[in-house]
Amino acid sequence: MKYVLVTGGVVSGLGKGVTASSIGLLLQACGLRVTSIKIDPYLNTDAGTMSPFEHGEVFVLDDGGEVDLDLGNYERFLDSTLTRDNNITTGKIYQSVIDKERKGDYLGRTVQVVPHVTDAIQEWIERVANVPVDGKEGPPDVCVIELGGTIGDIESMPFIEALGQFSYKVGPGNFCLVHVSLVPVLSVVGEQKTKPTQHSVRGLRSLGLTPNILACRSTKALEENVKTKLSQFCHVPEVNIVTLYDVPNIWHVPLLLRDQKAHEAILKELNLSNAVKPDLAEWTARTKIYDTLQDPVRIAMVGKYTGLTDSYLSVLKALLHASVACHKKLVIEWVAASDLEEITAQEAPDVHKAAWDLLKGADGILVPGGFGDRGVQGKILATKYARENQVPFLGICLGMQLAVVEFARSILGFHDANSTEFEPETSSPCIIFMPEGSTTHMGGTMRLGSRRTYFQVADCKSSKLYGNAKFVDERHRHRYEVNPDMISEIEKAGLSFVGKDETGRRMEIVELPSHPYFVGAQFHPEFKSRPGKPSALFLGLIAAASGCLESVLQTGGKVNIVSKNGVANGSAMGKVHQNGNVYSNGNGLHH
Ligand code: GLN
Repeated sequence: MKYVLVTGGVVSGLGKGVTASSIGLLLQACGLRVTSIKIDPYLNTDAGTMSPFEHGEVFVLDDGGEVDLDLGNYERFLDSTLTRDNNITTGKIYQSVIDKERKGDYLGRTVQVVPHVTDAIQEWIERVANVPVDGKEGPPDVCVIELGGTIGDIESMPFIEALGQFSYKVGPGNFCLVHVSLVPVLSVVGEQKTKPTQHSVRGLRSLGLTPNILACRSTKALEENVKTKLSQFCHVPEVNIVTLYDVPNIWHVPLLLRDQKAHEAILKELNLSNAVKPDLAEWTARTKIYDTLQDPVRIAMVGKYTGLTDSYLSVLKALLHASVACHKKLVIEWVAASDLEEITAQEAPDVHKAAWDLLKGADGILVPGGFGDRGVQGKILATKYARENQVPFLGICLGMQLAVVEFARSILGFHDANSTEFEPETSSPCIIFMPEGSTTHMGGTMRLGSRRTYFQVADCKSSKLYGNAKFVDERHRHRYEVNPDMISEIEKAGLSFVGKDETGRRMEIVELPSHPYFVGAQFHPEFKSRPGKPSALFLGLIAAASGCLESVLQTGGKVNIVSKNGVANGSAMGKVHQNGNVYSNGNGLHH
């Protein structure tokens, strides 16, 4: 097993996650089997309890693991299926050490950070690195490990110590350290400054880690003399210094690394001579299409957190994958759900009008998942608008539940229809708490991870979008569900439940057949969307919003984005779409 460790220095939010995923993709393109581990030095055992507003979305895995959103980047770039163990946190490590201590496994010894915690970290890495994540048998060839935070943080110290020991243990030729750093440019003189990188490399060395590769974030490519200086002061050969300069979108990053021969440097450090020349033809073609898209498709995101786009990262990625597949330039209109509500009309009429103008100008409306009652009424109003005005609509999890509530209120006339999450005493409880396990305990009752949905009718949009499959496995994260006792009444009124679980008691997909595209899913399809394989229900939304749903349905949800040899299909040409700091997932708050 070979290991690539990615660390970060100087400042957070440099895009370590994207860099690590891109390195993984590049090595994969060289014919290697790659897995990845993300280390988060915080004390939470997992990301499940963390606020999306502070930390970005909680990413959900097949096994029900609630993990850091960087794992989503890995899965998307490498098209892999990770497990909860691929995300290591301080909380998880300490929990395992304390459990062992309680069982008496340390045989009376004093349990200490070194060696017990550091040993536990190394054992964890070694164990998880050997688990295949690509659906094939046998261990992967390379494991890319990303250490969250910045070198020097107190909380990452045990991990640094463990990784230092680990690199010594696996030996040179099996371990490659890529240090992501910043080379700022002082605007007055326009000079690229190496000092911050020098300092952070010195810090790394003082902790027992030696960088093999420097990946420098900068606005432009590094000048030769700057590289020479860095090489001299950091003791890294010039050929091992790459610049991650600003690019139009993150799909360029693997290409940038390849162009600077980062794979050759890494393969040399890892003694891997059997790797082939990287084949990124399809990836390159798709990136070119992305760059040249001009024809906009406007999607209104009616959410609770509109300030931090990381809160809905996977939804945005899924919309993007589908838009690129349809050769459309995605334009997201952020609509704060509460701005649509009557109370805002009274308190801030301008805000209310602006929100409605945005909603009405959109080609499609998406109501994402969520918890808590803020903005619920606004989401219901947006759903009603989509339903009544034939605007393509996708409701995810809470969004699907509210679509049912709205339908029960408006069409069945159940004026106080609600989810018992928001109104426990409602006389029309169309969404209820239906735990898979205990009915008395809230803790651990979330329905999490992959579950199967069986299509009830072949002649519905979602089944066609999923390639006329009989069933589909998607990821869940919810407690509440559509009340099975109200199904027949709701269906008689015209809303149909086209996907259910194996018992037929849990509603998974809802559709309004009389509408151009009105679909709700109890699961989160966004977590399994990939750049080259857009998620079916998102593709449906974008296709409907761009007026090409019929042709997508006819081909069973298949769109040929690029042909096998990497030639772009379609003729979208135009100018490059710039969108700010593309390395960071958002504003970097979660790093
Ligand atoms: N709050 C809802 C539930 O628990 C929806 C959850 C979600 O949207 N992820 O069922």
